[in-house]
Amino acid sequence: MIDVRIANLNGRLTLLNGEDALDVENESDGRFGPDPLSAFNEWHAFSDWMEGVRFDRPAAAPFATTELETPVPRPSQIFAIGLNYADHAAESKMTLPEHPIVFTKFASSLTGADVEVELTGDRVDWEAELVVVIGRVGRNIGITSAWDHVAGLAVGQDISDRSVQNRGTPAQFSLGKSFRGFAPVGPVVPLSQLPVGANRDALRISSVLTEVDGTRRTLQDGTTADMIFSVPEIIHRLSATVEFRPGDLIFTGTPSGVGLGREPQEFFRTGQKLTTEIEGLGSITQRIT
Ligand code: ZN
Repeated sequence: MIDVRIANLNGRLTLLNGEDALDVENESDGRFGPDPLSAFNEWHAFSDWMEGVRFDRPAAAPFATTELETPVPRPSQIFAIGLNYADHAAESKMTLPEHPIVFTKFASSLTGADVEVELTGDRVDWEAELVVVIGRVGRNIGITSAWDHVAGLAVGQDISDRSVQNRGTPAQFSLGKSFRGFAPVGPVVPLSQLPVGANRDALRISSVLTEVDGTRRTLQDGTTADMIFSVPEIIHRLSATVEFRPGDLIFTGTPSGVGLGREPQEFFRTGQKLTTEIEGLGSITQRIT
């Protein structure tokens, strides 16, 4: 079994393989329910079952990417890490953090892989991010066992209204990053399904903006190897305080190339299309309205 992704197709837990989708509740004869969270709540059993699923059968049907809803619609917690790449901290004119900078994107901002996002002002910005999906309960997790707590990885965007994010002293990030549609997340690629050659600690991450006239520009192009706090380090440090639970999401920060850090600064305009890609995980698209 190769190339399986876990998705939420029209509100139901679904496995994707290339162009084809299989409904998990039907395919498992009810062993796993339609709630997307049921994959992560029983991650060990689910991943075992998933390894044996075959797609060469009539039940496998094509789907439209616009039908993909957010893969974990009701996570118990969403963590987001700020300034987690040195080049992005530099363009933000901030010093490197000694401890992870943690905020949240409230769950009502989650959305799917191919959606419209409505602008909330004239300073709405992009942040391509690797999203980690937790598959096991844990506190005080050691660095060497941290990956064992991860079910899979997904492509995400931490869309940010900079006016709201940086309002006040001290600024507080969470609200400016939680408007409707500001947390798109693509299907989850289980760690076991990463393509051969893709290193979970060093994945290329990039985003491309397409203008109304069709011209395309690369906005961000980095590697997750440049994170200041790696995925295991984030899990280790945060779990000294919180209990991670199945389905929890971690937005792990963005490399350089955001609009705020450009000369001159640049933000989304209506009609643009943003495509974010991570090596081995696929891509997501937002149409800006
Ligand atoms: Zn971010």
